[in-house]
Amino acid sequence: MQREVGLNAKGYSDRDEKRILAALGRGLSKEFPNPDRTGCPGSEVLERIASHEMPLSEAEKWLDHLTSCSPCYRDFLELQAGYRHRRMQTILAIAASILIVVGVAGWALFFKQKGPPVVQTAVLDLRNRSVPRGGEPNPGEQPLEISRQVKHLNVYLPLGSAEGPYELRISTTAGSAVFTTKSIASVKDGVTSIEMLVDLSSAPSGQYLFEVRRPNSEWNSYSLILR
Ligand SMILES: [Zn+2]
Repeated sequence: MQREVGLNAKGYSDRDEKRILAALGRGLSKEFPNPDRTGCPGSEVLERIASHEMPLSEAEKWLDHLTSCSPCYRDFLELQAGYRHRRMQTILAIAASILIVVGVAGWALFFKQKGPPVVQTAVLDLRNRSVPRGGEPNPGEQPLEISRQVKHLNVYLPLGSAEGPYELRISTTAGSAVFTTKSIASVKDGVTSIEMLVDLSSAPSGQYLFEVRRPNSEWNSYSLILR
């Protein structure tokens, strides 16, 4: 029979333990009261045997005594019950942590395969931006900023913007568009807004222009930073 490893690494196999218990069982059945505890090894030795801390070769020499001393047998049983309880708690703790690790890994794998379940949404608020003239962004204004991971954009148009069709695009500062779309603006709670789906994952991060126009009008440009 293979010896257990890990938790029982001190060299007691189940078979060894059964041998010890059988020897001790005979000891108890013979009922040696030994009230003066003559020749008893002491609780430290019993504890080391019960907790498998003492190598079997060393424990063997005590077996003769233990087979003929009922108090030692009872002490041993008690110590062993405590050791088994602690060992079971350790096993349960290890099992629980394995379950947690497996669970976390499973979830991580699940999300890796399915991708993030939430669509990233960002708001581009142009309401308090000055309406650019001649297509050039106003250099005094903080650039807009969104993540390249954003898939859903909600654009609040400048105050007073009309409802209806708009064209929107994101282009490099050199003027080439990396994303273009058309959408319908609508007024809700006094805000003219446009919702649009975007895919910016192939655009490198950096400085861009976010541009909006009514069809056949001039583009209004806003500085945009893609993170
Ligand atoms: Zn004894």
